[in-house]
Amino acid sequence: MNSFSEAVEILCEYYERTKAPRDKSKEIWFERIRQIPTEALPSMIQEIESQEETFPKNIPNMFWRTYHAWLEKNPEKKAQHTSFDCPDCTDGLLFARIIKCGTRYTYLFRCDRCKQNKITAYPQADRATLSLTYNVIPKTGDSEPAPRYLWRESSYGHNQHVVA
Ligand SMILES: [Zn+2]
Repeated sequence: MNSFSEAVEILCEYYERTKAPRDKSKEIWFERIRQIPTEALPSMIQEIESQEETFPKNIPNMFWRTYHAWLEKNPEKKAQHTSFDCPDCTDGLLFARIIKCGTRYTYLFRCDRCKQNKITAYPQADRATLSLTYNVIPKTGDSEPAPRYLWRESSYGHNQHVVA
């Protein structure tokens, strides 16, 4: 697999999506994920196929999530592919955690300092301000046990994962 459009074609086949996505949509998706290296695509596609019941509703978000999962499994690639090592975030993302009624929620924000992440579904915020309300996961890694999480759209209008 050498390209993003090939990856999308494979997903369309897999999910028996009879109508191909429009070129314009693909262009917009591609614009948002062009920082993802193509070498990660094959395992990302496998991951999506094994996790998702249907063709992903939000292709760029799904690709970023699975790309981050791939980076976790291939730590040696991390330094290589991080376009910009920002002191505040990980690849342009901040993971902010809060406990409400005994449930641990983690929200994703785009780092306002480096602005290298372009997923507009995530609100932009800076680490210092977030830290007033949330427990912002340090760059050095998550001290909590690895979550088994499911993603969903939150009532705040952005993505969160909820620890089961
Ligand atoms: Zn940053």
